[in-house]
Amino acid sequence: MIKKQALERWSVQDAADLYTIQNWGVGYFDISSKGNVVVTPFPDNKRVAVDLTDVIKGIRDRGYAMPVLLRIEDILDSQIRTIHETFRAKMKEFAYKGSFKGVFPIKVNQQQQVVEEITRFGEQYHHGLEAGSKAELIAALSLLKDREACLICNGYKDEEFVDLGLYATQMGVTCFFVLEMPSELSLILARSKALGIRPLIGVRIKLSTQAGGHWTDSGGDRSIFGLSATQVVDVVDTLKEEGMLDCLQLLHYHLGSQIPNIRDLRFAVMEGCRMYAGLVKEGAPMTYLDIGGGLAVDYDGSHTNYTNSRNYSLDEYCADIIDTIMVSLDEENIPHPVIITESGRATVAYYSILLFNVLDVSRFEPPELPVGPDSNDPEIITNLFEVRDVLSLKNLQECYNDAMYYRDEARQLFKLGQLSLRQRSLAEKIFWHIILRVAKELKHLKFIPKDLKHLPDALADIYYCNFSVFQSLPDAWAIDHLFPVMPIHRLDEMPGKQGTLADITCDCDGKIDRFIDVHGVQRTLPLHDLKEDEEYYLGAFLVGAYQETLGDLHNLLGDTNVVSIRISEDGDFSFVREVDGDSVADVLSYVEYDPKNMLEDFRKLAEAAVRAKRITPQERGRIVRAYADGLRGYTYFER
Ligand code: PLP
Repeated sequence: MIKKQALERWSVQDAADLYTIQNWGVGYFDISSKGNVVVTPFPDNKRVAVDLTDVIKGIRDRGYAMPVLLRIEDILDSQIRTIHETFRAKMKEFAYKGSFKGVFPIKVNQQQQVVEEITRFGEQYHHGLEAGSKAELIAALSLLKDREACLICNGYKDEEFVDLGLYATQMGVTCFFVLEMPSELSLILARSKALGIRPLIGVRIKLSTQAGGHWTDSGGDRSIFGLSATQVVDVVDTLKEEGMLDCLQLLHYHLGSQIPNIRDLRFAVMEGCRMYAGLVKEGAPMTYLDIGGGLAVDYDGSHTNYTNSRNYSLDEYCADIIDTIMVSLDEENIPHPVIITESGRATVAYYSILLFNVLDVSRFEPPELPVGPDSNDPEIITNLFEVRDVLSLKNLQECYNDAMYYRDEARQLFKLGQLSLRQRSLAEKIFWHIILRVAKELKHLKFIPKDLKHLPDALADIYYCNFSVFQSLPDAWAIDHLFPVMPIHRLDEMPGKQGTLADITCDCDGKIDRFIDVHGVQRTLPLHDLKEDEEYYLGAFLVGAYQETLGDLHNLLGDTNVVSIRISEDGDFSFVREVDGDSVADVLSYVEYDPKNMLEDFRKLAEAAVRAKRITPQERGRIVRAYADGLRGYTYFER
């Protein structure tokens, strides 16, 4: 909440504290002395700071309308580098004798530009890919050029999938089939024999360890994928019988995404190591321990084990994994494995920002009231006026209860025809007047009654914003995921309003009314008043993981424009990739309309109107052009 500070004493540091940008921004985002959000993509060179208002100007100058998904490629590179270099540094510090290889799970962001950049930059670290379906495998095979990087094939595999993986192996790709269920082994062995190609095999195990967090069903005895201890033994026996135990070299598990508590990660590694050791003792030439995803992102910056946070640093994550593996395997004299992690969220979350403008605000202003009551007013109106007149700090709860009661009664009387439309309107005006006064007085109370606690939130302003929650932030809608959202300029001004955000889908779920806060979740966001003739821009940060392809076409609002920038050491930036958002014709064709036929039908409709002399031929031309322009246009609100 905003500190009570005189306007002139408000500083950009107050804004930084209010929006906790220095906590969740992990050095990538800050606020400039001008009060604008800046991107600082090089953690060791904070002088390079790109102002997001300059980026927006560049976007608009190039003809792109809001909303825009902005990708900052340097941040993606920096995350890959940081993960690898932290693992390397910790391995050196602990004298770990194995090595580290990361893979990017394509499911976390399948966009071609994203996966291409990860494989391009990741090549120096032999950063590989994880494919969980046939389409992802086909995408991976087109992008992964590095023979030393791993290609991990998870997911349900049919014959076509297995054949492609075997061909990849034949061509020298380090391609692992990870057995998700026992039945996959016979198919892999049959195709391997038929094609004469020996596979690389891994087993995914079901952990008994279960973690806290949102996606924890991925782990535990009842997880849908993975083999039980008995099934792992069966795999070993089958491979021995077939003389192919040398193919089994990798053990994999995935505890779940966004694991907030380091203890859970540690327990999982411990259990994984026991299984790994067991397989070594069975005679499998085990080399790789793939500990899956789980590395969390601190979305709310609280550094706690809350679902949207994590109570550990990357340093701690790497150190704990390496230490646990060494402790577990050294006592059994087992060589240190190559550690693979499948961190997708931590790799891509930071580098995308959804930028959008505010279109309008709806405010709860206290309504003007007549002096009243009038002698002709019905009793219900007189009662409401009386509540208004007796309201004081001492009876807030009582007046609130009475106002609610009389408001409901007024509605009932209206339904029965005993109150006119004007009388109902007056009753509601007095009701809102009372409620707003109660809300205003609450801050003077030492203890706020439970019933009234959320009253100020319910009366917050509504800022109508040019985006779709369902398309761009689906997790905020589906699983109440929290993303940092804040104004990207005017931060040298104290934000004097509290608001919730409504999108333009006209769906009652199309809103954001839960916001990050170090002490919990806030129901409103501090915002500025809108200014005439000046756009007000907000940003939703850390949206690079999962959001882009999970989003849907609710109300036929399509993909947003996407712009990627690259920042140079001298602080300049250039637009390196641009993808046009969906046009109206695009989204209509996704739901099986044919835009060509539609235009044709519309022309016929307009021609019929000309024949009926409702419009002139010139007007027909204008109207048909407007329809055609509409089909070509952006699906979002254009000024
Ligand atoms: N690996 C597998 C098998 C997954 O299912 C997932 C996603 O849940 C990941 C990796 C990515 O995990 P994270 O989101 O924690 O990076």
